[in-house]
Amino acid sequence: MPDAKLEIHQFACLSDNYGFLVRDAATGRTATIDTPDADAILAEAARIGWTITDIWNTHWHPDHAGGNAAIVAATGAKVTGPAEVARIAAAPDVLAAPGQTVALGGSIATVLDVGGHTLEHIAYHFAEHTVAFVGDALFALGCGRLFEGTAEQAHASLERLMALPDATTIYCAHEYTQANARFCESLGPASAALASRIAQIDAARAAGRPTVPTSIGLERATNPFVLADEAGLRAALGLADASRTALFAEVRRRKDVFR
Ligand SMILES: [Zn+2]
Repeated sequence: MPDAKLEIHQFACLSDNYGFLVRDAATGRTATIDTPDADAILAEAARIGWTITDIWNTHWHPDHAGGNAAIVAATGAKVTGPAEVARIAAAPDVLAAPGQTVALGGSIATVLDVGGHTLEHIAYHFAEHTVAFVGDALFALGCGRLFEGTAEQAHASLERLMALPDATTIYCAHEYTQANARFCESLGPASAALASRIAQIDAARAAGRPTVPTSIGLERATNPFVLADEAGLRAALGLADASRTALFAEVRRRKDVFR
């Protein structure tokens, strides 16, 4: 039974990021998940009448923690995040280590290790609300580029996310889905589930609608980076006997050079 109502407000910012404001209704505690654009986040919070009390960072990249200083200056928000955030901002007030829980009022999130895109990348999983904020670790039909971690690390991170219930709503930080769909088509024949999803994605984007959030179930059924349609993927890539990690690494390698 959910312990408190968790309200989520999603909006577009920068060229292809999403901002997320999350509010524990009972206490009014409100977090911005990452800080892609401080001005846009502050304006959006003011527009909907929410007062930012917290910043929850997923990783250190400038389009995720670059707005920390300005939002702290404007609101006095408490910063929660991995230690790596100190590369471009003040060290977090609360270090969020994998396995710990962090609280937004009465709403509790578990910190998940989703390293790979960056070494200390984390996700926030509100189990009782079946919601997770995953930053750049997992995208709709994609996953973040491996700037720092190994394929082994990233594959293990994605497996941890895929262990969440199918119904879990996944808020990822970028609208990359249509480009990811074109990459999926380049891998070989699409499964029926993937083909159907791609048609929905193209229709949504043509109508100007977001494709985020997604869900664990949808990614499990269609996303090649989590080895959906594993048999078809092995056949298409000629990797019948490769380990699952090697199969993931090959999909990621192909995406890195896909144009
Ligand atoms: Zn990033």
